[in-house]
Amino acid sequence: MIALLGSTGSIGQSTLSICESFPDRYRPIAFAAGRNVDAAFAQCSRWRPELISLATEELAADLTARLKAAGITGIEVLHGPAGSVKVATHPAVDFVVSAIVGVAGLEATYAAVNASKTVGLANKECLVAAGELILEAARKNNVALLPIDSEHNAVHQCLRGGTAAEVKQIWLTASGGPFRSTPLADFEKITPAQALKHPTWVMGQRITVDSATMLNKGLEVIEACRLFSLPPERVRVTIHPQSTIHSMVEFIDGSILAQISVTDMRLPILYALAYPERVAVENKSPLTFDLAALSQLNFEQPDFARFPCLRLAYEAAALGGAHCIALNAADEVAVEAFLAGQIPFLGIPRTIEAVLADTPASHPASIKDVLVADQAARNVARSILARHGQPA
Ligand code: NDP
Repeated sequence: MIALLGSTGSIGQSTLSICESFPDRYRPIAFAAGRNVDAAFAQCSRWRPELISLATEELAADLTARLKAAGITGIEVLHGPAGSVKVATHPAVDFVVSAIVGVAGLEATYAAVNASKTVGLANKECLVAAGELILEAARKNNVALLPIDSEHNAVHQCLRGGTAAEVKQIWLTASGGPFRSTPLADFEKITPAQALKHPTWVMGQRITVDSATMLNKGLEVIEACRLFSLPPERVRVTIHPQSTIHSMVEFIDGSILAQISVTDMRLPILYALAYPERVAVENKSPLTFDLAALSQLNFEQPDFARFPCLRLAYEAAALGGAHCIALNAADEVAVEAFLAGQIPFLGIPRTIEAVLADTPASHPASIKDVLVADQAARNVARSILARHGQPA
Protein backbone atom coordinates (compact mmCIF):
# COMPACT_ATOMS: atom_id res chain seq x y z
CA MET A 1 0.00 0.00 0.00
CA ILE A 2 1.44 3.34 -1.10
CA ALA A 3 1.16 6.90 0.16
CA LEU A 4 2.02 9.44 -2.49
CA LEU A 5 3.27 12.85 -1.35
CA GLY A 6 3.07 15.14 -4.39
CA SER A 7 0.54 13.00 -6.28
CA THR A 8 -0.37 15.70 -8.82
CA GLY A 9 3.24 16.46 -9.82
CA SER A 10 5.49 14.94 -12.42
CA ILE A 11 6.91 12.22 -10.11
CA GLY A 12 3.48 11.63 -8.60
CA GLN A 13 1.98 10.98 -12.02
CA SER A 14 4.86 8.70 -13.03
CA THR A 15 4.32 6.72 -9.81
CA LEU A 16 0.63 6.35 -10.62
CA SER A 17 1.58 5.16 -14.09
CA ILE A 18 3.63 2.37 -12.44
CA CYS A 19 0.65 1.52 -10.20
CA GLU A 20 -1.48 1.38 -13.36
CA SER A 21 0.99 -1.07 -14.96
CA PHE A 22 1.34 -3.29 -11.88
CA PRO A 23 -2.08 -3.16 -10.18
CA ASP A 24 -1.52 -6.45 -8.33
CA ARG A 25 1.68 -5.21 -6.70
CA TYR A 26 1.10 -1.51 -5.96
CA ARG A 27 -2.01 0.23 -4.63
CA PRO A 28 -1.97 3.95 -3.82
CA ILE A 29 -4.34 4.66 -0.92
CA ALA A 30 -3.29 8.10 0.37
CA PHE A 31 -2.42 11.24 -1.58
CA ALA A 32 -0.97 14.63 -0.67
CA ALA A 33 -1.05 17.43 -3.23
CA GLY A 34 -0.76 21.21 -3.31
CA ARG A 35 -3.10 23.47 -5.25
CA ASN A 36 -4.20 21.52 -8.31
CA VAL A 37 -7.77 20.65 -7.35
CA ASP A 38 -8.69 19.50 -10.89
CA ALA A 39 -5.92 16.88 -10.88
CA ALA A 40 -6.69 15.90 -7.27
CA PHE A 41 -10.37 15.39 -8.20
CA ALA A 42 -9.41 13.28 -11.23
CA GLN A 43 -7.10 11.16 -9.04
CA CYS A 44 -9.86 10.67 -6.46
CA SER A 45 -12.24 9.56 -9.22
CA ARG A 46 -9.72 7.11 -10.65
CA TRP A 47 -8.02 5.73 -7.54
CA ARG A 48 -10.61 6.19 -4.78
CA PRO A 49 -7.91 6.74 -2.09
CA GLU A 50 -8.86 6.54 1.58
CA LEU A 51 -7.25 9.91 2.26
CA ILE A 52 -6.20 13.01 0.33
CA SER A 53 -4.68 16.25 1.59
CA LEU A 54 -4.39 19.60 -0.21
CA ALA A 55 -2.29 22.65 0.66
CA THR A 56 -5.04 24.82 2.22
CA GLU A 57 -8.42 24.56 3.92
CA GLU A 58 -10.17 26.40 1.03
CA LEU A 59 -8.79 24.01 -1.56
CA ALA A 60 -9.79 21.04 0.58
CA ALA A 61 -13.33 22.47 0.91
CA ASP A 62 -13.48 22.92 -2.88
CA LEU A 63 -12.43 19.29 -3.44
CA THR A 64 -14.91 18.03 -0.83
CA ALA A 65 -17.73 19.89 -2.60
CA ARG A 66 -16.75 18.50 -6.00
CA LEU A 67 -16.54 14.94 -4.67
CA LYS A 68 -19.97 15.34 -3.08
CA ALA A 69 -21.47 16.70 -6.31
CA ALA A 70 -20.03 13.73 -8.21
CA GLY A 71 -21.43 11.26 -5.67
CA ILE A 72 -17.95 10.06 -4.63
CA THR A 73 -17.95 9.08 -0.95
CA GLY A 74 -15.55 7.50 1.55
CA ILE A 75 -12.54 9.76 0.88
CA GLU A 76 -11.26 11.76 3.84
CA VAL A 77 -10.10 15.22 2.69
CA LEU A 78 -7.49 17.00 4.83
CA HIS A 79 -5.25 20.04 4.38
CA GLY A 80 -1.94 21.65 5.24
CA PRO A 81 1.26 20.14 6.64
CA ALA A 82 -0.75 18.18 9.26
CA GLY A 83 -2.78 16.62 6.43
CA SER A 84 0.40 15.61 4.55
CA VAL A 85 1.76 14.07 7.78
CA LYS A 86 -1.42 12.03 8.18
CA VAL A 87 -1.07 10.80 4.59
CA ALA A 88 2.56 9.83 5.22
CA THR A 89 1.77 7.94 8.40
CA HIS A 90 -1.46 6.19 7.34
CA PRO A 91 -1.37 2.89 9.27
CA ALA A 92 -2.08 0.72 6.22
CA VAL A 93 0.74 2.26 4.17
CA ASP A 94 4.10 0.50 3.97
CA PHE A 95 5.78 2.59 1.26
CA VAL A 96 5.78 6.40 1.05
CA VAL A 97 6.84 8.18 -2.13
CA SER A 98 8.20 11.59 -1.12
CA ALA A 99 7.71 13.88 -4.12
CA ILE A 100 6.36 17.18 -2.79
CA VAL A 101 8.55 19.89 -4.21
CA GLY A 102 10.64 21.95 -1.76
CA VAL A 103 10.70 21.94 2.04
CA ALA A 104 6.88 21.70 2.05
CA GLY A 105 7.51 17.93 1.98
CA LEU A 106 9.92 17.89 4.91
CA GLU A 107 7.65 17.29 7.91
CA ALA A 108 5.69 14.55 6.16
CA THR A 109 8.85 12.77 4.99
CA TYR A 110 10.35 12.92 8.48
CA ALA A 111 7.07 11.66 9.96
CA ALA A 112 7.07 8.73 7.48
CA VAL A 113 10.58 7.71 8.57
CA ASN A 114 9.62 7.97 12.24
CA ALA A 115 6.52 5.86 11.54
CA SER A 116 8.89 3.16 10.15
CA LYS A 117 7.64 3.39 6.57
CA THR A 118 9.98 2.56 3.72
CA VAL A 119 10.52 5.85 1.87
CA GLY A 120 11.16 6.34 -1.83
CA LEU A 121 12.82 9.74 -1.88
CA ALA A 122 12.41 11.99 -4.93
CA ASN A 123 12.36 15.22 -2.94
CA LYS A 124 16.03 16.17 -2.73
CA GLU A 125 15.34 19.37 -0.78
CA CYS A 126 14.44 17.21 2.27
CA LEU A 127 17.89 15.63 2.39
CA VAL A 128 19.64 18.91 1.60
CA ALA A 129 17.86 20.81 4.36
CA ALA A 130 17.52 18.08 6.98
CA GLY A 131 19.64 15.17 5.80
CA GLU A 132 21.44 14.65 9.09
CA LEU A 133 18.16 14.43 11.02
CA ILE A 134 16.36 12.24 8.46
CA LEU A 135 19.25 9.77 8.20
CA GLU A 136 19.59 9.57 11.96
CA ALA A 137 15.85 8.84 12.25
CA ALA A 138 16.12 6.24 9.46
CA ARG A 139 18.97 4.48 11.29
CA LYS A 140 17.11 4.59 14.59
CA ASN A 141 13.90 3.20 13.07
CA ASN A 142 15.72 0.79 10.75
CA VAL A 143 13.99 2.35 7.75
CA ALA A 144 15.17 2.01 4.15
CA LEU A 145 15.57 5.31 2.28
CA LEU A 146 15.48 4.42 -1.40
CA PRO A 147 16.52 7.17 -3.79
CA ILE A 148 14.20 7.89 -6.71
CA ASP A 149 16.28 10.76 -8.04
CA SER A 150 17.76 9.04 -11.10
CA GLU A 151 21.44 9.71 -10.28
CA HIS A 152 21.21 8.45 -6.70
CA ASN A 153 19.09 5.59 -7.81
CA ALA A 154 21.86 4.68 -10.28
CA VAL A 155 24.49 4.96 -7.52
CA HIS A 156 22.31 2.79 -5.26
CA GLN A 157 22.21 0.14 -7.98
CA CYS A 158 25.98 0.31 -8.65
CA LEU A 159 26.82 0.15 -4.94
CA ARG A 160 25.41 -3.34 -4.91
CA GLY A 161 28.65 -4.25 -6.73
CA GLY A 162 30.98 -3.75 -3.73
CA THR A 163 31.28 -2.85 -0.05
CA ALA A 164 31.38 0.71 1.32
CA ALA A 165 35.09 0.31 2.09
CA GLU A 166 35.73 -0.60 -1.56
CA VAL A 167 34.22 2.64 -2.91
CA LYS A 168 36.77 5.23 -4.03
CA GLN A 169 34.32 7.88 -5.22
CA ILE A 170 31.03 8.31 -6.99
CA TRP A 171 30.39 10.14 -10.25
CA LEU A 172 27.10 11.95 -10.70
CA THR A 173 26.37 12.57 -14.34
CA ALA A 174 24.82 15.85 -15.50
CA SER A 175 23.34 16.62 -18.89
CA GLY A 176 24.79 20.13 -18.62
CA GLY A 177 21.30 21.53 -19.24
CA PRO A 178 20.23 23.70 -22.18
CA PHE A 179 23.12 26.20 -21.78
CA ARG A 180 26.10 23.86 -21.83
CA SER A 181 27.44 25.50 -24.98
CA THR A 182 25.81 28.95 -24.76
CA PRO A 183 28.47 31.72 -24.83
CA LEU A 184 28.98 33.09 -21.32
CA ALA A 185 28.29 36.61 -22.60
CA ASP A 186 24.70 35.55 -23.43
CA PHE A 187 23.90 34.18 -19.96
CA GLU A 188 22.54 37.49 -18.64
CA LYS A 189 19.86 37.47 -21.38
CA ILE A 190 18.56 33.93 -20.83
CA THR A 191 14.76 34.00 -20.52
CA PRO A 192 12.48 31.79 -18.36
CA ALA A 193 11.10 30.15 -21.52
CA GLN A 194 14.63 29.16 -22.58
CA ALA A 195 15.53 27.90 -19.10
CA LEU A 196 12.38 25.78 -18.96
CA LYS A 197 13.41 23.73 -22.01
CA HIS A 198 15.45 20.79 -20.68
CA PRO A 199 17.28 18.78 -23.36
CA THR A 200 16.59 15.29 -21.95
CA TRP A 201 14.09 15.27 -19.06
CA VAL A 202 10.50 16.53 -18.63
CA MET A 203 10.16 17.76 -15.03
CA GLY A 204 8.52 20.36 -12.76
CA GLN A 205 9.42 24.06 -13.22
CA ARG A 206 11.82 24.59 -10.32
CA ILE A 207 13.92 21.50 -10.99
CA THR A 208 14.07 22.39 -14.71
CA VAL A 209 15.48 25.86 -13.95
CA ASP A 210 17.79 24.28 -11.35
CA SER A 211 19.08 21.96 -14.07
CA ALA A 212 19.81 24.96 -16.28
CA THR A 213 21.86 26.66 -13.52
CA MET A 214 23.27 23.27 -12.37
CA LEU A 215 22.13 24.10 -8.84
CA ASN A 216 20.17 20.88 -9.19
CA LYS A 217 23.43 18.96 -9.56
CA GLY A 218 24.77 20.81 -6.54
CA LEU A 219 21.74 19.73 -4.48
CA GLU A 220 22.38 16.21 -5.71
CA VAL A 221 25.99 16.38 -4.51
CA ILE A 222 24.74 17.25 -1.02
CA GLU A 223 22.04 14.58 -1.26
CA ALA A 224 24.67 11.99 -2.27
CA CYS A 225 27.03 12.97 0.57
CA ARG A 226 24.21 12.29 3.00
CA LEU A 227 22.66 9.19 1.45
CA PHE A 228 25.98 7.44 0.89
CA SER A 229 27.98 8.91 3.83
CA LEU A 230 30.70 10.42 1.65
CA PRO A 231 32.55 13.76 1.93
CA PRO A 232 31.97 16.26 -0.93
CA GLU A 233 35.42 15.61 -2.45
CA ARG A 234 34.41 11.97 -3.07
CA VAL A 235 31.21 12.98 -4.88
CA ARG A 236 32.29 14.11 -8.34
CA VAL A 237 30.25 15.58 -11.19
CA THR A 238 30.83 14.88 -14.85
CA ILE A 239 28.90 16.38 -17.75
CA HIS A 240 27.46 13.64 -19.91
CA PRO A 241 25.20 15.28 -22.51
CA GLN A 242 23.47 12.05 -23.62
CA SER A 243 22.09 11.36 -20.09
CA THR A 244 22.44 7.67 -20.90
CA ILE A 245 24.61 6.78 -17.93
CA HIS A 246 22.67 7.95 -14.91
CA SER A 247 25.66 7.80 -12.57
CA MET A 248 28.68 5.69 -11.69
CA VAL A 249 30.60 4.24 -8.77
CA GLU A 250 34.38 4.02 -8.95
CA PHE A 251 35.90 1.30 -6.78
CA ILE A 252 39.40 1.17 -5.23
CA ASP A 253 40.62 -1.41 -7.78
CA GLY A 254 39.95 1.04 -10.64
CA SER A 255 36.68 -0.55 -11.80
CA ILE A 256 33.82 1.81 -12.58
CA LEU A 257 30.25 0.51 -12.56
CA ALA A 258 27.74 2.58 -14.52
CA GLN A 259 23.97 2.31 -14.71
CA ILE A 260 22.44 2.76 -18.16
CA SER A 261 18.75 3.05 -18.93
CA VAL A 262 16.15 5.15 -20.72
CA THR A 263 15.55 8.67 -19.39
CA ASP A 264 12.20 7.85 -17.82
CA MET A 265 11.55 8.40 -14.11
CA ARG A 266 9.21 5.41 -14.02
CA LEU A 267 12.28 3.17 -13.97
CA PRO A 268 13.89 4.48 -10.74
CA ILE A 269 10.41 4.63 -9.20
CA LEU A 270 9.82 0.96 -10.09
CA TYR A 271 13.29 0.03 -8.79
CA ALA A 272 12.60 1.71 -5.44
CA LEU A 273 9.11 0.22 -5.11
CA ALA A 274 10.34 -3.30 -5.92
CA TYR A 275 13.67 -3.20 -4.00
CA PRO A 276 15.36 -5.56 -3.20
CA GLU A 277 13.61 -7.45 -6.01
CA ARG A 278 13.51 -6.46 -9.67
CA VAL A 279 10.27 -6.49 -11.60
CA ALA A 280 10.20 -7.75 -15.19
CA VAL A 281 8.90 -5.36 -17.85
CA GLU A 282 7.77 -6.48 -21.29
CA ASN A 283 10.22 -6.55 -24.20
CA LYS A 284 8.47 -3.66 -25.95
CA SER A 285 8.03 -1.59 -22.78
CA PRO A 286 9.18 2.06 -23.06
CA LEU A 287 11.42 1.23 -20.09
CA THR A 288 13.65 -1.09 -22.13
CA PHE A 289 16.86 0.41 -23.49
CA ASP A 290 17.83 0.02 -27.14
CA LEU A 291 21.57 -0.68 -26.90
CA ALA A 292 21.89 -0.83 -30.69
CA ALA A 293 20.87 2.85 -30.91
CA LEU A 294 23.65 3.90 -28.56
CA SER A 295 26.35 5.56 -30.64
CA GLN A 296 28.42 7.64 -28.25
CA LEU A 297 29.05 8.48 -24.62
CA ASN A 298 30.76 11.84 -23.99
CA PHE A 299 32.08 13.28 -20.76
CA GLU A 300 33.33 16.79 -19.88
CA GLN A 301 34.46 18.45 -16.70
CA PRO A 302 31.92 21.00 -15.38
CA ASP A 303 32.97 24.63 -15.70
CA PHE A 304 32.46 26.43 -12.37
CA ALA A 305 32.69 29.85 -14.07
CA ARG A 306 29.76 28.94 -16.32
CA PHE A 307 27.84 27.30 -13.47
CA PRO A 308 28.59 29.23 -10.25
CA CYS A 309 25.62 27.50 -8.55
CA LEU A 310 27.58 24.23 -8.62
CA ARG A 311 30.57 25.87 -6.92
CA LEU A 312 28.26 27.40 -4.30
CA ALA A 313 26.72 23.99 -3.61
CA TYR A 314 30.14 22.37 -3.04
CA GLU A 315 30.99 25.21 -0.65
CA ALA A 316 27.70 24.70 1.22
CA ALA A 317 28.25 20.92 1.26
CA ALA A 318 31.62 21.42 2.98
CA LEU A 319 30.05 23.66 5.65
CA GLY A 320 26.84 21.59 6.06
CA GLY A 321 23.96 22.56 8.40
CA ALA A 322 22.54 26.04 7.94
CA HIS A 323 24.51 26.66 4.72
CA CYS A 324 22.84 23.76 2.93
CA ILE A 325 19.43 24.97 4.16
CA ALA A 326 20.22 28.51 2.97
CA LEU A 327 21.44 27.29 -0.43
CA ASN A 328 18.16 25.54 -1.09
CA ALA A 329 15.93 28.28 0.35
CA ALA A 330 17.72 31.12 -1.46
CA ASP A 331 17.54 29.22 -4.73
CA GLU A 332 13.80 28.61 -4.39
CA VAL A 333 13.17 32.34 -3.83
CA ALA A 334 15.55 33.34 -6.64
CA VAL A 335 14.05 30.86 -9.13
CA GLU A 336 10.56 32.20 -8.37
CA ALA A 337 11.81 35.76 -8.96
CA PHE A 338 13.49 34.69 -12.21
CA LEU A 339 10.36 32.94 -13.49
CA ALA A 340 8.32 36.06 -12.60
CA GLY A 341 10.70 38.15 -14.71
CA GLN A 342 12.00 40.07 -11.67
CA ILE A 343 15.68 39.06 -11.93
CA PRO A 344 17.89 37.86 -14.79
CA PHE A 345 19.22 34.30 -15.01
CA LEU A 346 22.53 35.23 -13.37
CA GLY A 347 20.58 36.91 -10.57
CA ILE A 348 19.94 33.36 -9.28
CA PRO A 349 23.59 32.57 -8.31
CA ARG A 350 24.13 36.17 -7.20
CA THR A 351 21.18 35.93 -4.80
CA ILE A 352 22.33 32.57 -3.43
CA GLU A 353 25.89 33.81 -2.93
CA ALA A 354 24.67 36.90 -1.05
CA VAL A 355 22.40 34.79 1.20
CA LEU A 356 25.18 32.27 1.95
CA ALA A 357 27.52 35.11 2.90
CA ASP A 358 24.86 36.33 5.34
CA THR A 359 24.33 32.90 6.95
CA PRO A 360 26.06 32.14 10.28
CA ALA A 361 27.36 28.57 10.60
CA SER A 362 25.03 26.36 12.68
CA HIS A 363 23.65 22.82 12.75
CA PRO A 364 19.91 22.72 13.49
CA ALA A 365 18.99 19.96 15.94
CA SER A 366 15.31 19.50 15.04
CA ILE A 367 12.98 19.78 12.05
CA LYS A 368 11.52 22.90 13.69
CA ASP A 369 15.01 24.47 13.76
CA VAL A 370 15.47 23.51 10.10
CA LEU A 371 12.22 25.23 9.16
CA VAL A 372 13.21 28.33 11.18
CA ALA A 373 16.60 28.46 9.41
CA ASP A 374 14.86 27.92 6.07
CA GLN A 375 12.46 30.80 6.73
CA ALA A 376 15.30 33.06 7.88
CA ALA A 377 17.24 32.38 4.65
CA ARG A 378 14.12 33.07 2.56
CA ASN A 379 13.62 36.38 4.37
CA VAL A 380 17.23 37.36 3.69
CA ALA A 381 16.83 36.43 0.01
CA ARG A 382 13.59 38.41 -0.30
CA SER A 383 15.02 41.47 1.41
CA ILE A 384 18.10 41.38 -0.83
CA LEU A 385 15.84 41.17 -3.89
CA ALA A 386 13.54 43.90 -2.60
CA ARG A 387 16.46 46.21 -1.79
CA HIS A 388 18.38 45.83 -5.00
CA GLY A 389 15.96 44.21 -7.47
CA GLN A 390 18.90 41.86 -7.69
CA PRO A 391 22.21 41.65 -5.85
CA ALA A 392 24.99 43.50 -7.64
P1 NDP B 1 6.21 19.11 -9.61
O1 NDP B 1 6.31 20.58 -9.49
O2 NDP B 1 5.77 18.51 -10.89
O3 NDP B 1 5.21 18.55 -8.47
C1 NDP B 1 5.31 18.97 -7.14
C2 NDP B 1 4.25 18.30 -6.30
O4 NDP B 1 4.29 18.87 -4.97
C3 NDP B 1 2.83 18.54 -6.82
O5 NDP B 1 2.04 17.42 -6.55
C4 NDP B 1 2.37 19.72 -5.95
O6 NDP B 1 0.97 19.81 -5.87
C5 NDP B 1 2.96 19.30 -4.63
N1 NDP B 1 3.02 20.37 -3.67
C6 NDP B 1 3.55 21.62 -3.83
N2 NDP B 1 3.39 22.35 -2.70
C7 NDP B 1 2.76 21.54 -1.80
C8 NDP B 1 2.29 21.70 -0.47
N3 NDP B 1 2.45 22.85 0.19
N4 NDP B 1 1.66 20.65 0.13
C9 NDP B 1 1.49 19.48 -0.52
N5 NDP B 1 1.90 19.28 -1.80
C10 NDP B 1 2.52 20.28 -2.42
O7 NDP B 1 7.62 18.54 -9.16
P2 NDP B 1 8.30 17.17 -9.58
O8 NDP B 1 7.33 16.04 -9.49
O9 NDP B 1 9.09 17.38 -10.80
O10 NDP B 1 9.38 17.02 -8.40
C11 NDP B 1 8.99 16.59 -7.10
C12 NDP B 1 10.28 16.40 -6.28
O11 NDP B 1 11.04 15.36 -6.90
C13 NDP B 1 11.19 17.64 -6.27
O12 NDP B 1 11.80 17.70 -5.02
C14 NDP B 1 12.21 17.34 -7.37
O13 NDP B 1 13.45 17.98 -7.10
C15 NDP B 1 12.33 15.84 -7.25
N6 NDP B 1 12.74 15.18 -8.48
C16 NDP B 1 11.99 15.27 -9.62
C17 NDP B 1 12.40 14.65 -10.79
C18 NDP B 1 11.57 14.68 -12.04
O14 NDP B 1 11.97 14.07 -13.03
N7 NDP B 1 10.45 15.36 -12.05
C19 NDP B 1 13.66 13.91 -10.86
C20 NDP B 1 14.33 13.81 -9.60
C21 NDP B 1 13.89 14.44 -8.45
P3 NDP B 1 0.09 20.72 -6.91
O15 NDP B 1 0.61 20.43 -8.27
O16 NDP B 1 -1.27 20.17 -6.67
O17 NDP B 1 0.24 22.15 -6.49
